[in-house]
Amino acid sequence: MTVSGACECGAVAYAIKDGPLHVYACHCLNCQTRSGSAFAEHAMVQDDAFDCVGSVVEFRRAADGMQFTEVFCQECHTRLYNRNSMLPGMVFLRAGTLQCSQQLGPMAHIWTSRKQAWVTLPDGIPTFEHSPSPEEFGVAVAAALERSAR
Ligand SMILES: [Zn+2]
Ligand SMILES: [Zn+2]
Repeated sequence: MTVSGACECGAVAYAIKDGPLHVYACHCLNCQTRSGSAFAEHAMVQDDAFDCVGSVVEFRRAADGMQFTEVFCQECHTRLYNRNSMLPGMVFLRAGTLQCSQQLGPMAHIWTSRKQAWVTLPDGIPTFEHSPSPEEFGVAVAAALERSAR
């Protein structure tokens, strides 16, 4: 399955091959502040499955001992994705820019210790008080695949 997305003005568009996409919601304070919202929806995508066209601007910042590169549309400044120095082969997509974002429910909720009180999480979806380890995240992905196969 190939899925696609774009910034608000459409000057930057991307396609991702080899779905499914594993969208997760991050409720950390950083995501709340940077998105100006209650939480952020991300999807991890392998670099070689990600094809993005259009002019972008990059913003680099350091946090938690890592280097982050955030990528925006040059025209409308929609934030499309970021990369970090810990996982160089990965794109961390802003899942709200996906065309099919309405059909993708988060397969995990992370940093629920910072979750806003009014946000009610669905039953049966893994939650993590902080960042899960790669192993824990892998278990959540496997559970999501099993749910979608049912
Ligand atoms: Zn744009
Ligand atoms: Zn976060």
